Amino acid sequence: MRSPPDEPEDGVIKFSATHDEGPLPESRYAELAAALIAWRAIFAHLGAIGQEAARYGGVGFGNVSGRVGPFPGSPGARPFLITGTQTGGRDCLSLDDFCVVLRWNSRRNTVESRGAILPSSESMTHGALYDLGPHIRFVFHGHCPILWRAARALRLPTSDPTVAYGTPAMAAEVARLYRETALAEGRVLSMGGHEDGIIAFGRTPEEAGSAFTEALARAYSARFLSDGRLCRT
Ligand SMILES: [Zn+2]
Repeated sequence: MRSPPDEPEDGVIKFSATHDEGPLPESRYAELAAALIAWRAIFAHLGAIGQEAARYGGVGFGNVSGRVGPFPGSPGARPFLITGTQTGGRDCLSLDDFCVVLRWNSRRNTVESRGAILPSSESMTHGALYDLGPHIRFVFHGHCPILWRAARALRLPTSDPTVAYGTPAMAAEVARLYRETALAEGRVLSMGGHEDGIIAFGRTPEEAGSAFTEALARAYSARFLSDGRLCRT
């Protein structure tokens, strides 16, 4: 067991993590990892997951997760498989690039995890989404400038710009948006305090992924309607 140092992946890990380091059994996790890897590849093609020298100081960005059965589980203990820290730029991914987040507590700001790699710095935010209800089983986080800038025009639920990603305050903010906005129906939120940050979720990977791509299409349409043309971004 060890606690990770702060790491510059999509920012810095801001929770206190207890990590049990070791490989994850394929028999239990390969099928879920396959679904996540497929959507991660699509997000990478869209430029929403990656690592580029010209973006965010060259750190990796974006991550995907899916809940591990049996369902439904209790809040704070609905284990999920998530891409590990500093994997945004990797061209090839295996099960060793994932870890399982077993438990989290947004008030104490703690995360317990297991796997060959430390969890994404956004794990607490993923956990906060899973705490909203047992029907949420997949959470995808990508960075998408055109969608993020169109959030107001598209009326996307948007977190308070003063709330930093991966913090207990972000967990509370996600719950507030779920209560007070149409987030439950739209399944996409913009992270006001996290440049270009978008989160989509759903009962299935297809539901989460298509919520993201449908919002992206609406952003492209809005850009065309405001500028009279749409240029390749
Ligand atoms: Zn991010």
